[in-house]
Amino acid sequence: MHDNSGEPTATPRPRVCELCGTAINRTSQVSGRVRDSSWIHPYDSEQDGDRLLAACSPGHLDQLRQRYRRRPFVKEELWAGKIDRALRAQPDLDEEELADVTGLNFIQIEHALTWESERFLEERAARGGHEGPDGGSGRRNTQGLN
Ligand SMILES: [Zn+2]
Repeated sequence: MHDNSGEPTATPRPRVCELCGTAINRTSQVSGRVRDSSWIHPYDSEQDGDRLLAACSPGHLDQLRQRYRRRPFVKEELWAGKIDRALRAQPDLDEEELADVTGLNFIQIEHALTWESERFLEERAARGGHEGPDGGSGRRNTQGLN
């Protein structure tokens, strides 16, 4: 098998319809870009927030587009994603290096972190919190929110 060795493009190419999950063959695939602040490119910050959708048919692409159009584009979410990606690659960046790597300024970083912790608290509140004792102090910045 030589499948992985000589791959000419590094572009990630989704192979299933993002609406219905049907496998798409290359000839029937329809794709389009949408603005999505939760989408961070694995390495190319130019493409952050610019999500490439793949669908099995024009109709499904249209439904996907509408779904993302209804979703608010939150700048802080995009910034938080950039910070997250940078820290995953280099966990011990200090604040200056982080600004350098992400292309954000300190204020943007501050806003992104605030946004992220607010969202974390909101999600926890939304979940109710009657799942038994969970002395939540001491682990504010847990990862793995997915
Ligand atoms: Zn579909």
